[in-house]
Amino acid sequence: MERTFMAIKPDGVQRGLVGEILRRFEAKGFTLVGLKLMHVSKELAEKHYDVHRERPFFPGLVEFITSGPLVAMVWEGDGVVASARKMIGATNPLSAEPGTIRGDFGISIGRNLIHGSDAIETAQREIALWFSSEELVSWQPAAVAWLV
Ligand code: ADP
Ligand code: MG
Repeated sequence: MERTFMAIKPDGVQRGLVGEILRRFEAKGFTLVGLKLMHVSKELAEKHYDVHRERPFFPGLVEFITSGPLVAMVWEGDGVVASARKMIGATNPLSAEPGTIRGDFGISIGRNLIHGSDAIETAQREIALWFSSEELVSWQPAAVAWLV
């Protein structure tokens, strides 16, 4: 079953949007298989955003991601990687569609509330980077018959 990695960034935690964000993916019908609140080390933040290492915003991004607690999570479901990206919205919240998380709650590209893996291969790399296998719980929601 397809899985994706997402993180509610420190601004999402500070603004009290953890419940609202979890609610959206739960209500959509995806299955939560990993969840933890954590303070991210500089090392993990730099590894996670390694593709952006040469970008001018990289130091500020790492500083922001390590500035306060973040909620790391893994969600499972058919097509969850692309669907979650759609629900998250465009990188710049000012151009993100209303109805998306960034479109509904954000106004700044540097404070866009949530990360989501951009492809299946990226999701596999990020899940392995953020979670140990013991931290991931495989389970079948009893209500799954109503979703398929
Ligand atoms: P996404 O999170 O939508 O996949 P990117 O992978 O392009 O976006 O960028 C990673 C993160 O880096 C963004 O979510 C955002 O927090 C930050 N970022 C991207 N571009 C900028 C920018 N021009 N200025 C500040 N921060 C940026
Ligand atoms: Mg990205």
